Amino acid sequence: LATKLPRVGTTIFTTMSQLAAEHSAVNLGQGFPDFDVPPFLVEALAQAMREGHNQYAPMAGVPALREAIAEKAAGLYGARVDAGSDITVTSGATEAIFCAVHAAVRAGDEVIVLDPCYDSYEPAIDLAGARAVHVPLVEPDFHVDWQRVCEAITPRTRMLIVNSPNNPTGAVFSAADLDALAAILRETRVLLLSDEVYEHIVFDGAVHQSVLRHPELAARSFVVSSFGKTYHCTGWKLGHCIAPPALSAEFRKVHQYVTFCSFNPAQHALARMMREHPEHHLELPAFYQDKRDRFRALLADTPFRPLPVAGTYFQLADYSAISDLDDLAFCRWLTVEKGVTAIPLSPFLAEPPPGQRLVRFCFAKSDATQQAAAERLRTL
Ligand code: PMP
Ligand code: GLN
Repeated sequence: LATKLPRVGTTIFTTMSQLAAEHSAVNLGQGFPDFDVPPFLVEALAQAMREGHNQYAPMAGVPALREAIAEKAAGLYGARVDAGSDITVTSGATEAIFCAVHAAVRAGDEVIVLDPCYDSYEPAIDLAGARAVHVPLVEPDFHVDWQRVCEAITPRTRMLIVNSPNNPTGAVFSAADLDALAAILRETRVLLLSDEVYEHIVFDGAVHQSVLRHPELAARSFVVSSFGKTYHCTGWKLGHCIAPPALSAEFRKVHQYVTFCSFNPAQHALARMMREHPEHHLELPAFYQDKRDRFRALLADTPFRPLPVAGTYFQLADYSAISDLDDLAFCRWLTVEKGVTAIPLSPFLAEPPPGQRLVRFCFAKSDATQQAAAERLRTL
């Protein structure tokens, strides 16, 4: 069979998690918490199953959950989002990204992505028969050069994908970024896919600059989020897409044939969680900022040089004081020889800068896990 995805193999997350398991390494690679979901949510899930919510959910998602999402978007971002027409619950943000791309992008189109970027964007673009155009973020702080983005727009450009807070860089947008973005899109027909899965993980008092705060941008956007990140349940694979009615209608045409609907009991459980524990997402910045600070303090006793982190649960670190291996070889060596797993940066980049020595650690871990990793890293 001639492959449709010649540049795709097994994802770096699967590869590194398998290697970590084989070598009993402390896995700070693939991004997932190693602590429990809120007990209320586990109970609510069991109750939803006992109450009989075990058959298909409505295609666009359980109404109570969509209403809770709409209320949150109004309260946090001042967004007028209609629970009936603008919100679709999906099987993770991954499915939402895939559906948004396939709803909007045709063969021969171009889609602009900002490197380094999450690994699921380009395969979705490729499968739509379109072409990803890579614009690099600017080091050392990985900000967007909006002028370069503007120059990358051609008559073929159909979509721009942005991600703030950013995986893997930990950078976040400012309000000025959204204004610059609105200015460059104003005279174009380019749609925006805003991946905001880390919307509740921003630090140092910053506020998340959701595209939903910006009516002009929201009018041309698919805004994607993930319950997995917010409620420590990545394995539940539930997310959502917010988009204006005309875009949501196209989005749902794809969603209904990718999966039809997402896991019903968990939608009921999350609706109750959001209604009865609205404080949960408000406590998340402090919760993860504490983990970030602990992890950075531990790294200070190692030869790694941590970069700033403004959001997400990822920490980039420079290892040039330890090794001259490329990042893939270094991550393999670190797992096999030192028992700690990180993710190399190069799989997030179309053209890794030569000599770049950066890896990504996930700090969404218990104190004990962070300590165990640090003990090993201190011996480098
Ligand atoms: N986008 C980004 C930037 C992510 O980090 C992730 C999860 N790692 C996803 C999308 C996918 O989220 P989900 O697990 O809900 O599919
Ligand atoms: N999003 C997670 C990360 O960046 C991994 C998700 C996956 O394994 N596909 O680590």
